[in-house]
Amino acid sequence: MNFLEKRIKKDGKVLTDHVLKVDSFLNHQLDPGLMLQIGEEFANRFANEGITKIVTIESSGIAPAVMTGLQMKLPVVFARKKKSVTLADELLTASVYSFTKKESNEIAISKKYLQENDRVLIIDDFLANGQAALGLTDIVKQSGAEVAAIGIVIEKSFQEGANKLRELGFKVESLARIASLTNGEVTYISENMEELV
Ligand code: 5GP
Repeated sequence: MNFLEKRIKKDGKVLTDHVLKVDSFLNHQLDPGLMLQIGEEFANRFANEGITKIVTIESSGIAPAVMTGLQMKLPVVFARKKKSVTLADELLTASVYSFTKKESNEIAISKKYLQENDRVLIIDDFLANGQAALGLTDIVKQSGAEVAAIGIVIEKSFQEGANKLRELGFKVESLARIASLTNGEVTYISENMEELV
């Protein structure tokens, strides 16, 4: 088990067969030391992709994305979920159905923060059905920039998002890949022999 898989086993709470709660270190209270390790790991994995910009979605993607941007010395842009009076520029938008909130949000990034020649690394905290990541790839495409890769902190591999994104040809790197959450237990792909075959 890697550092993140160990931490999930220690502090994560399996809420249902589909939902993992990690709000003591990832998406409510934050562990900055762990975020730093996550940033270092993403920076290593994507060092040779010619990335020029990191894109994420508020709010839980911001911490891992900023730490990655710090390591890679790259700017970080986050898609906003709520319209703001300060967000008056020309916007690129996509509609995203939230897995946890069970509602659709229009997400938006100002056109001026994505250029045609950008090679974008998309970062998010969780990958479930892939709606958030797909919305971000859509926005990047609208800008004329290219999605170079997608970095996910926790991939729930038993939901459809991971396969969908890889089938579409995106390079997806996930720091923890969960094979199942059944019986209140977290099982990782690396522990599950069937998944390795
Ligand atoms: P997707 O768009 O891939 O269906 O879901 C991704 C988003 O839903 C993530 O940005 C994350 O905020 C949220 N999410 C999905 N699954 C979980 C989960 O098991 N636990 C938590 N805390 N958030 C999740």
